[in-house]
Amino acid sequence: MSIVRALKCRECGQEYAIEPTHVCEFCFGPLEVVYDYEKLEGIFTRELIESRPQTMWRYKELLPIDGEPTVGAQNGFTPLVRARNLEKALGVSELYIKNDSVCYPTLSFKDRVVSVALSKAVEFGFKTVACASTGNLAGSVAANAAAAGLESYVFIPHDLEQGKVIGAGIFGTKIIGINGAYDDVNRLCSEVAGKYGWAFVNVNVRPFYAEGSKSYGYEIMEQLGWRAPKHVVVPMASGSLCTKIDKAIKEFIKLGLIEDNDTAVYGAQATGCSPISRSVKEGSDLIHPVKADTIAKSLAIGNPADGFYANRVIRESGGWSEDVSDAEIVAAMKLLAETEGIFTETAGGVTLGVTKKLIEQGRIPRDESIVVCITGNGLKTQEAIVDAIDKPSIIGPSIHEFDDLIEAESNKLAA
Ligand SMILES: *Cc1c(COP(=O)(O)O)cnc(C)c1O
Ligand SMILES: [Zn+2]
Repeated sequence: MSIVRALKCRECGQEYAIEPTHVCEFCFGPLEVVYDYEKLEGIFTRELIESRPQTMWRYKELLPIDGEPTVGAQNGFTPLVRARNLEKALGVSELYIKNDSVCYPTLSFKDRVVSVALSKAVEFGFKTVACASTGNLAGSVAANAAAAGLESYVFIPHDLEQGKVIGAGIFGTKIIGINGAYDDVNRLCSEVAGKYGWAFVNVNVRPFYAEGSKSYGYEIMEQLGWRAPKHVVVPMASGSLCTKIDKAIKEFIKLGLIEDNDTAVYGAQATGCSPISRSVKEGSDLIHPVKADTIAKSLAIGNPADGFYANRVIRESGGWSEDVSDAEIVAAMKLLAETEGIFTETAGGVTLGVTKKLIEQGRIPRDESIVVCITGNGLKTQEAIVDAIDKPSIIGPSIHEFDDLIEAESNKLAA
């Protein structure tokens, strides 16, 4: 049962019928899906949710499709890991990793937004789907479209990591590499969407797409035992995930599923592309577009569509925003791998690196619950760490050579 009421302009409040559209005709503000929450009173309970399969669709009443999902019915419900070794390393008492580096089927949180966007595109009657991507979205659209029998086109900056390009191409999608940055790709896609009439998941069906991110927040709260964390650190590209985690928390409070825990939301960016964190640190709500230059390519959006709203969520929730250098990103990727056995991509290095920085600054207290949002998989960004990890020790297949190696190692340790 859908409780979707309308699309509503975030600026002037004008409401629109449910259609593949994303900007207000009056003020050009972005449109957002709004719901009639009263219809769920007494019906949408913890028990009902817990009785359902472990996928993101166990919260389907709060996702904007009419029927059952036709794309990505298995997606979501990833582990929330109590990170005891990382707690020791960072000197904090209660820290969790929400691990979407193992999200089904393409190993990033984009599988959540894509399953909503494509299920909605099918309801709208589209046959061809597309996206403007910084990498993970391309792979997710390609895979989920293939499984649903939809034709797909993915548009990417020409210089993405090989793992991201191969991780889209394998699904038989058509990949268009644009000579330009993500912001150029996005601009072109708006034109193509208008002219070709395709469903661009993050352009003309963006209001529906963006709602899929809420499932990441719902899962955190259910997996914490029906409670919101005190602090949550979120990677930001367009800033959408950051705003939707906040929306998810507010919805669960409104529906009586959790108590208000005054959760503070923190935004994480790479210093080489930090228009949102800079605005927060400067105490401004103006986002100045930048030219991106960072190894965290999945977060490299210089002119973030939801930057203004992410900034507001961060400030109103009592959170903060920070950014980290490429070297700090690599160090944080290694720290997560060596303490918790989780191999995240550069975006995860950004989130953990920023978490560490905020703890050291005293912005996040050491004795309260913290959730770190790990959103993508390290196998897709191997270029970033290839020079930062030990090479294999090469020996012949001989026990003597192995003995020598071990001896050399222990001598090195003793020295
Ligand atoms: C796309 C992406 C994000 C952030 O997305 P928003 O545009 O801010 O919602 C975070 N992490 C990874 C790995 C991504 O691919
Ligand atoms: Zn408007």
